[in-house]
Amino acid sequence: MRETVTSTHCPYCALQCGMNLTPAADGRSVEVSERADFPVNRGALCGKGRTAPAVLSSAVRLTSPLVRSAAGTLEPASWEEALDRIAQGIGGARAEHGADAVGVFGGGGLTNEKAYALGKFARVVLGTSQIDYNGRFCMSSAAAAGGRAFGLDRGLPFPLEDIPRTGCVILVGSNPAETMPPALRYFTELKENGGTLIVVDPRRTRTAEQADLHLAPRPGTDLALALGLLHLVVAEGLTDEEYIRERTAGWEDTRAAAMAHWPEYVERITGVPVPQLRKAVRLFCEPEHAMVLTARGPEQQAKGTDTVSAWINLALATGRPGRPLSGYGCLTGQGNGQGGREHGQKADQLPGYRKLTDPAARAHVAQVWGVDPDSLPGPGRSAYELLDALGTDIRALLLMGSNPVVSAPRAAHVEERIRSLDFLAVCDVVLSETAELADVVLPVTQWAEETGTTTSLEGRVLLRRRAISPPAGVRSDLEVLHELAARLGGEGSPEKRFPADPEEVFEELRRASAGGPADYSGITYRRLAEENGVFWPCPSPAEPAEPADPSEPAEAAGAAVHPGTPRLFLDRFATEDGRARFVPVSHRAVAEEPDEEYPVLLTTGRVVAQYQSGAQTRRVDELNAAAPGPFVELHPRLAQRLGAAEGDPVAVVSRRGRAVAPARITTAIRPDTVFMPFHWAGEGRANTLTNPALDPTSRMPEFKACAVRLEAVRP
Ligand code: SF4
Repeated sequence: MRETVTSTHCPYCALQCGMNLTPAADGRSVEVSERADFPVNRGALCGKGRTAPAVLSSAVRLTSPLVRSAAGTLEPASWEEALDRIAQGIGGARAEHGADAVGVFGGGGLTNEKAYALGKFARVVLGTSQIDYNGRFCMSSAAAAGGRAFGLDRGLPFPLEDIPRTGCVILVGSNPAETMPPALRYFTELKENGGTLIVVDPRRTRTAEQADLHLAPRPGTDLALALGLLHLVVAEGLTDEEYIRERTAGWEDTRAAAMAHWPEYVERITGVPVPQLRKAVRLFCEPEHAMVLTARGPEQQAKGTDTVSAWINLALATGRPGRPLSGYGCLTGQGNGQGGREHGQKADQLPGYRKLTDPAARAHVAQVWGVDPDSLPGPGRSAYELLDALGTDIRALLLMGSNPVVSAPRAAHVEERIRSLDFLAVCDVVLSETAELADVVLPVTQWAEETGTTTSLEGRVLLRRRAISPPAGVRSDLEVLHELAARLGGEGSPEKRFPADPEEVFEELRRASAGGPADYSGITYRRLAEENGVFWPCPSPAEPAEPADPSEPAEAAGAAVHPGTPRLFLDRFATEDGRARFVPVSHRAVAEEPDEEYPVLLTTGRVVAQYQSGAQTRRVDELNAAAPGPFVELHPRLAQRLGAAEGDPVAVVSRRGRAVAPARITTAIRPDTVFMPFHWAGEGRANTLTNPALDPTSRMPEFKACAVRLEAVRP
């Protein structure tokens, strides 16, 4: 039998590494091999991507729907029974309490087609405004700050290949050595080419170890750090006055805010010595080209939008954004965190990155959906606010591709809210901690068993291809929505408007996005298969000239095909007047400062061998061997005060709860800070402790800093 090799992409992070898959002899799994033609990772994969097939054939894979029995246990059931039960649960809540009593919670790992269909399902079939997704917890602050500065949010406005050719990169709160290891080569090549890398992180991470300069501010003070750097840029006459005059607006207020943050004051706030600030400014301003890249560190704060704005201001004042090999970008984390926020599963957005409050956007999308614009609900609650309302205003929830019992802030409270629902339906591949609480669990297909598109951190739209058939008993998320639309949609065959075929959904998404900020209308599955992805915006070509032979497709007849847009803003920014906006911001403290009772700051993050809530990666033996459980990283001085030795159980207590995990003692962290990875449930669940204080603009919770105390745990 001839082996079929399928070129596709990893199911995990936003780098979306290319890989080849060959069906294994058992037909139930695939073997991963190098795909050298995809330029982003050039064949390299991290351990997560390499072992991703293990989840396809995992013994704990769900292959039958589960329905909660009268005895309270989850029992196997037929698809008909399970779908009918969901229709009853959701339909009952809607009939009794109104459309907004039904919530929908999506995920940043869902393909563009699924994110699009889920948003449409919520607004057209359920009529609810209560939809959001876990990508809100990922990069919403960068999206908000990018939007207000440049008029458009696309994680990176340039391809990763530009990084090695710039002169200096300031990498703020990002640890690609662990979160996306194949991306590290862009930074090592930068250094090999004579460029410099500055890493801003409270921990000396594996990435920080590679840096020419590591700035280690207290968690939650990087806004002040950026202001201090901008102060020095101004004081030393290093601003790009011509660029500021020609391409920006609002400089004077931002300049004044920066001048109030003199270096010694910033040193007191951040703990970063003034000589290091001066060195950073020199390294950043000397080269012709330079970049600022942010990630979850500055973004996951109750002032995340302003913190990112402070870094964008630094980039603008030095004339970087919208110039070749320079600029500002955000390294998005989740696999389809970028596409997920563009196509309608976010509380305030319609497909094409349109605003739900914009009458023209509503009219356009309603016309594609074949509904009255007035029937579309308005914006709903953000992710944490939605979870916090479960069991009160929201009585039933449909959850797809997310595990908030582990990944949401103040997780014990969120778990209690989920338990108080009248009805919960979860679509997942394994029985996650959230699925365990459901009334109905639907087993769905995985990445290698289905086709769909994702949009990487570069804004590159990619085609993930099906390589093997799913196991019997498993259906795709699109099939689930198709079936539920038939049951819940009322008159007029609504299921026909929810096709289960991904390419059909994508064709509709193209029309819905046409003319919007994230315009995909010029992208087709055929192009994605032939090209190595297409960068949005990619509008459809202007009306093609009539082909001489009407049977010939317009493209073949010479109609112009938009090439996509790898680099944004080179001529103008996406604001009305084409100018970028400075946004004046000032330092403010974290929502919960340390005090006598809770004297230490906790910050959270990821480790190399696990991914997000661990729902998939904790099912892979090789990854579990490398990263078997949570830990508390603390400085030797703190450990000594506590009387804790390496490996001793340590309790971390915040105002929201208590978590226990073994001590990992290292000088790589500040003495006033502890770190916990957030991939695990149970007593080591880091998010039991985190603070749901929200950013006023992005509604991002403050995952990166909360006050805790440590307690020794005696056996
Ligand atoms: Fe997959 Fe990300 Fe690892 Fe690449 S870096 S293999 S996309 S998890």
